[in-house]
Amino acid sequence: MKEFDYIIIGGGCAGLSLAYELETHDKLKDKTLAIIEPRNEYKRDKTWSFWKILSHNFEDCIRKSWDNFTINIPNHTKHIECKNTPYQTIDSGLFYQKIINTLKENNKIHFFKNINEINTQNSFIFNSVSNIPDSKNNMWQHFSGIEIETNKDFFDEEIFNLMDFDCDQKDNVHFFYTLPYSKTKALIETTWVSDLNNPSIKDYDNQLKQYLENNLKIKNYKINFKETGAIPLFHKKNIKKLNQIEIGTTGGMTRLSTGYTFLNIQEQSKYIRQNIANIKNTKIFSINKKYQFLDNIFLKVLKKNPNKMAQIFYKLFNCSPSTVINFLSSKSNIYEDVSIISKMPKKMFLKELF
Ligand SMILES: Cc1cc2nc3c(=O)[nH]c(=O)nc-3n(C[C@H](O)[C@H](O)[C@H](O)COP(=O)(O)OP(=O)(O)OC[C@H]3O[C@@H](n4cnc5c(N)ncnc54)[C@H](O)[C@@H]3O)c2cc1C
Repeated sequence: MKEFDYIIIGGGCAGLSLAYELETHDKLKDKTLAIIEPRNEYKRDKTWSFWKILSHNFEDCIRKSWDNFTINIPNHTKHIECKNTPYQTIDSGLFYQKIINTLKENNKIHFFKNINEINTQNSFIFNSVSNIPDSKNNMWQHFSGIEIETNKDFFDEEIFNLMDFDCDQKDNVHFFYTLPYSKTKALIETTWVSDLNNPSIKDYDNQLKQYLENNLKIKNYKINFKETGAIPLFHKKNIKKLNQIEIGTTGGMTRLSTGYTFLNIQEQSKYIRQNIANIKNTKIFSINKKYQFLDNIFLKVLKKNPNKMAQIFYKLFNCSPSTVINFLSSKSNIYEDVSIISKMPKKMFLKELF
């Protein structure tokens, strides 16, 4: 059986980002790499969005970028500017195509459908695949979105809506998210933060239809694309093994209070590339511990007080836009952290802390 210096298990966002980072920095010149990926073809399957708080390799895969956004609770709308850190959306189809085209050029990189096809004994493994054990205490961000096209102009393409809480919360946390690509095209998602055991909140298609008809007053549209997903808002224990590192969602790259993962994956890939020569002895890359601590308290509060969360999220944006964006993107300084914490209802948070 064939042997490789490196193996990447899972050719999704994290696996391919890492392969691309290694390949474009000449780290695979004298090395061999196997990527294990069961899918038969790469096509657009996800929409990755984030505030651009750092540079990344995929500017040419950006579908659209916004300098302004809104957040809504019933009867109130807040307008926020984010010109210094625009909100970018990556088309996963373009991302896969760009990376696969680059990797194809190197004949030392091979794709396999199953790990059993190769010998793993002497390789260093980057693993982005594992069963995430669920329990009823775990929280998930689960959602379904449709990209619609209308025959009339409906959307203001300059402003996206981060969270619209003007909808039935059903004793959970529920909001709609709208990314207007043009006046006639937008991605609209129904998003829940809850455990995964409640079937009564999973009629996503109906929720989207009602929101389009009743809130946005859009009756005639066609659906061009659909995405559904669930992001775990908990981390698996990440224990360093001698010949293996966990990457991506499995490697703890999700920010637990928001579900944002994409840019953390890019930072993790860069860190691994910088340390690849001595990877066996390198510390695991992780999201700053202060966010794990604060996010865990935040999720405890959210779980016990779902009906208060719309107000809490709304109030968070009373801080300056850069403070909130830096905090949500894991790049805040101590002053910004204090400013965010000061906007939270003290009693509720202190109760969960102790
Ligand atoms: C629909 C959706 C939208 C999201 N939107 C955002 C966003 O806007 N912003 C953001 O920051 N984050 C977002 N996320 C979260 C996160 O960025 C993505 O989930 C991201 O794809 C995680 O990368 P990953 O490599 O860990 O997992 P994946 O991209 O899912 O990659 C895992 C890969 O492993 C493969 N695989 C599965 N089983 C095996 C096996 N047995 N052996 C080998 N390979 C296997 C899969 O086919 C897949 O290609 C979103 C998540 C989803 C699901």
